[in-house]
Amino acid sequence: MHNKRLRMLSYLVILYMLLAFTWWTVLLFIKNEDAFKARASYMELVMAAEQKITDQASFQLTPEFIQLRQNYARQKWMILGEAGVFVISLMIGIYLINRAYYKEIKAAGQMRNFLLSITHELKSPLSSVRLVLETIKKRRNLPTDKVEHICVNGLKETDRLNSLVDDLLLAARVETAYQAHPEWISIAPTMREIIEKKKINWPTAQINLSINPEKMTVKADVLGLQAIIVNLIENAIKYSTGTPTVDLFLKYDKDKKTLIIEVADQGIGIPEEEKKKIFDKFYRIGNEDTRRTKGTGLGLYIVHQFVRLHKGTIVLKDNLPKGSKFIITLPVEVVSD
Ligand code: ATP
Ligand code: MG
Repeated sequence: MHNKRLRMLSYLVILYMLLAFTWWTVLLFIKNEDAFKARASYMELVMAAEQKITDQASFQLTPEFIQLRQNYARQKWMILGEAGVFVISLMIGIYLINRAYYKEIKAAGQMRNFLLSITHELKSPLSSVRLVLETIKKRRNLPTDKVEHICVNGLKETDRLNSLVDDLLLAARVETAYQAHPEWISIAPTMREIIEKKKINWPTAQINLSINPEKMTVKADVLGLQAIIVNLIENAIKYSTGTPTVDLFLKYDKDKKTLIIEVADQGIGIPEEEKKKIFDKFYRIGNEDTRRTKGTGLGLYIVHQFVRLHKGTIVLKDNLPKGSKFIITLPVEVVSD
């Protein structure tokens, strides 16, 4: 609120400066013209008295008058030029201040999102693991199958914690010192392996894979390519209701020499106004309390960073009649037989 008022005030000051400056420019213009006219008529009178001229037309042909008119024109352009430079500098200043302001707001938002999601994501696995250990400590005579069950749950929580830390480290690496190592990757087995791994956590999910041409090999950064596919598939499953169905389609565009990755789901979809924001660091749609799914808002940020690293593009569309579709285009070398 305080910020808003301060911004309004600064806009008012800027407006005042612009109006005042316009007014001074107009005034200078008028004064310049007045001075020119006064000097011209004085010069005309003196010349008429000295009988150097006969009428006004002959006065306007004299070198003195021509010189005066040239001076007047030069001053007119000088005023205009100065005014232009001032207005442009003011505009650039306003633009830079605004940009810095929005960056600040974005950073503050990211910080808030970070604290909200990370605190929750860090604390809940920790307390689960603690609970597991306490239970085992207190009730030593617990049946082995019960111990097994709670240990499996505890391990799942440590996995979650592990992947959170991995994501945090990967995000930090990819925005600073990440060096891509392109190598030849056989697409079909790599994709199948990713899908099999995802099926362990989400056994009910149906992931349809299609690759065209089936036996293609691409030269890309393995970690980057895997991070892109894993995060998109995870989201497609996580943000679906009922049995998640994901269509993963990879194709090679021969003309443009690009690899196209499409991940489509039939889930809850993404509102139009959120489509740009979801690639921001730590951004998650909706209120932290109302979110049922677990996550930190790092997944799509990492995807976006890797796509940028590969000089590719991401397009996000609605998947009709329901869900979302991410289309990624990567300019990579592809070999197919
Ligand atoms: P993380 O991937 O780090 O575990 P996350 O899934 O919340 O957490 P992102 O993958 O960056 O983070 O996604 C950001 C937000 O975008 C999600 O919280 C979700 O609200 C929305 N979103 C992403 N993918 C989809 C999708 N396929 N369908 C609907 N909403 C989505
Ligand atoms: Mg995600």
